[in-house]
Amino acid sequence: MILLNDFARQWEIVESRVLDATRRVGASGRYILGPEVERFEHALAKFWGITHAVGVGNGMDALEIGLRCLDIRPGEKVLSTPLSAFASTLAILRAGARPIFVDVDERGGIDLDQCERLLRRDSSIRFLLPVHLYGIALDLQKLARLRDEFGLFVVEDCAQAIGATDGEMTAGSVGQVAATSFYPTKNLGALGDGGALLTNDAHLAEKAKNLRNYGQTAHYFHSEPGLNSRLDELHAAILHDAFLPFVKEWTERRRKIAHAYLSRIMNPAIQLLPVEAGSGAVWHLFPILVAEGLREDLQQHLSSREIVSAIHYPRIIPEQEALKRSPGFEVAEQPLKASRFSRCELSLPVHPFLSEAEVERVIDACNSWQPQT
Ligand SMILES: *Cc1c(COP(=O)(O)O)cnc(C)c1O
Repeated sequence: MILLNDFARQWEIVESRVLDATRRVGASGRYILGPEVERFEHALAKFWGITHAVGVGNGMDALEIGLRCLDIRPGEKVLSTPLSAFASTLAILRAGARPIFVDVDERGGIDLDQCERLLRRDSSIRFLLPVHLYGIALDLQKLARLRDEFGLFVVEDCAQAIGATDGEMTAGSVGQVAATSFYPTKNLGALGDGGALLTNDAHLAEKAKNLRNYGQTAHYFHSEPGLNSRLDELHAAILHDAFLPFVKEWTERRRKIAHAYLSRIMNPAIQLLPVEAGSGAVWHLFPILVAEGLREDLQQHLSSREIVSAIHYPRIIPEQEALKRSPGFEVAEQPLKASRFSRCELSLPVHPFLSEAEVERVIDACNSWQPQT
């Protein structure tokens, strides 16, 4: 069976490092906010090329804390994407703000041209929460230009995009804050929940450290109603010793597989995203698009060849029940392309533990598919 994520194969590689780290933390008697979290934060910041990293409980909290560090106001508008994990939007709601949606582009990322037009007509928008979806970095020069031209606060959702680049620039380097997730399926996943916020601003990093720990400025003194959202010592040690050292290698493998798919999947019924081979994408997922009504047929065809696939995402965010019960959100541009992704997208396995033969099997399965129309 070719899985979307193969944790059994991953465990074979990381097992001894995980067990060593576990023994060390267990014996230390220090389990919350100690030296392991600090060590991992330094290593992550160095890996990312950003000055400060702050470990938190999960990716969604990293986004919420990021918005709150930037002093977001109650009811403040936050421009964001209709196509993402719901957590991207939920973080905006949790921060007491209002999501404003535009559409996505051909690669599924927020349409920055629509953002620009909206920012020109609505000068009350000060916040932007872009998502580097599927591990494909947005146009970072354009993002930086929007930030400067409109004086925006930008919180980049890099949960799927650790290490992604666009030209010379790295995803997460444009926003005042970047957020990432260590949810097990992510490119840098933990053995449980975890997340981090990254920033080049020492003051923001300090604020994030307070907010993750009950808004505590000194022991038992609380300056703000913060969260309990701390990265555990255990997860930090495991991430540092067993997972972070492999991210580069695993990302290279994802890229190789993605490039094989991009150059060799040739089926008129399958549309690949317009991403150049050799791009800086890190391929958290490998999305393809099929014609209306044919997705289930392809999924069954793959499944009959023991290939698992999945949909990211089957319902756009503005249409989620939970959002309808949180009035105040706005759909500024009809999310037509996002809706098409929700009806026509399918993600192929692209995890770094696929063998060459399995990559061939996926390519063959896609190329041999003849839709039953
Ligand atoms: C996974 C994910 C999140 C949320 O991360 P958690 O650690 O699960 O809270 C946010 N945004 C995107 C784009 C994600 O893929």
